[in-house]
Amino acid sequence: MQVSGSWDAELLVVGAGPAGVAAAVMASSLRMKALVVEADQVGSKLRAIGSLENVPGGWSAGPALAEAMASDLARHQELGRVTVLRGCAARVVGRDDRAEVVLDDGRVLAAGAVVVATGVTTLSPADVPWISAPAAAWLPPLWRAAAGELEGRRVVVLGADRPLGTWLRAHPTARVQFDVLFPAGDRYKTDEVGEERRLRLDEVTSVGVAPAPNGFRITAAHAGGGTHSFVVDAVLTNMGSKPAALDGLVVGGDGYCPPDDQHPRVLVAGDLKGSRMQRIAVAMGDGSRAALEPYYQARTVAG
Ligand SMILES: Cc1cc2nc3c(=O)[nH]c(=O)nc-3n(C[C@H](O)[C@H](O)[C@H](O)COP(=O)(O)OP(=O)(O)OC[C@H]3O[C@@H](n4cnc5c(N)ncnc54)[C@H](O)[C@@H]3O)c2cc1C
Repeated sequence: MQVSGSWDAELLVVGAGPAGVAAAVMASSLRMKALVVEADQVGSKLRAIGSLENVPGGWSAGPALAEAMASDLARHQELGRVTVLRGCAARVVGRDDRAEVVLDDGRVLAAGAVVVATGVTTLSPADVPWISAPAAAWLPPLWRAAAGELEGRRVVVLGADRPLGTWLRAHPTARVQFDVLFPAGDRYKTDEVGEERRLRLDEVTSVGVAPAPNGFRITAAHAGGGTHSFVVDAVLTNMGSKPAALDGLVVGGDGYCPPDDQHPRVLVAGDLKGSRMQRIAVAMGDGSRAALEPYYQARTVAG
């Protein structure tokens, strides 16, 4: 059933990361038609993960896995059981007889159930209290940075979240030098990069970022006391992430979307479920499971 557009789907899937792709593939394998809405491209996050070591199947880098997922979806599209729609979902609605997804262009999609697998988005300076930066200053995330753009430049990294270690492992020969300014809450995460010679780790209580000719002026208040002001060529963010929850989902105090609290026709899968267990293999399992729920619900004979 659809409200607008010309799709005929039993399951809507929002997000084509590992969770959303697994949901669509599982649905298709059960002969349920799935309509996938993706704002960017299939496996968009994976395409920037240069090194993997915990995904069964011998995957050692994200881009190859993303390509394989895109091929999977294409195969199911050719079979006529999956449609991928480029669009940005704004809202999800659970009704007695259907679930709806409202896109940001006003289109409304409907089916028997929806799997929401929109993952998390990168925190920006405006989201954290320890950084002050002009709202207009675009500070790109470290995990999307190409090594070639950074070599030979003086770079400050704001935050010591885990992508720091991933990025360095993925670029073992990159000639970079990062000044990493991080808050006390990130201290435990620095253990895994403590040996890395390409880093200078500096715990701070606050950081100011201001535009300067050809770069940025950084004013760092050090945790041990004292303030230091200097100019750098580039500033990258690495402060973690926040859930990409859609309007209409039930959201907990931490902004994540507990699956058990949602409308029965609204399933949540992958990183969007909670701040722990954010892993590719977990997301795939979640997505598969989410697609199985409406399948069994629709086919279980009462009594
Ligand atoms: C730098 C980095 C390194 C990592 N390394 C590892 C690792 O080594 N091993 C590991 O297991 N995990 C790793 N992870 C975590 C892993 O990437 C996630 O756990 C996994 O991608 C979660 O899958 P997901 O499908 O829930 O969400 P995502 O992969 O985030 O996919 C969500 C999708 O939804 C789309 N979307 C978002 N909002 C909307 C909207 N409103 N409308 C339509 N589409 C939307 C996005 O474009 C995206 O394609 C890493 C993450 C990062 C950032």
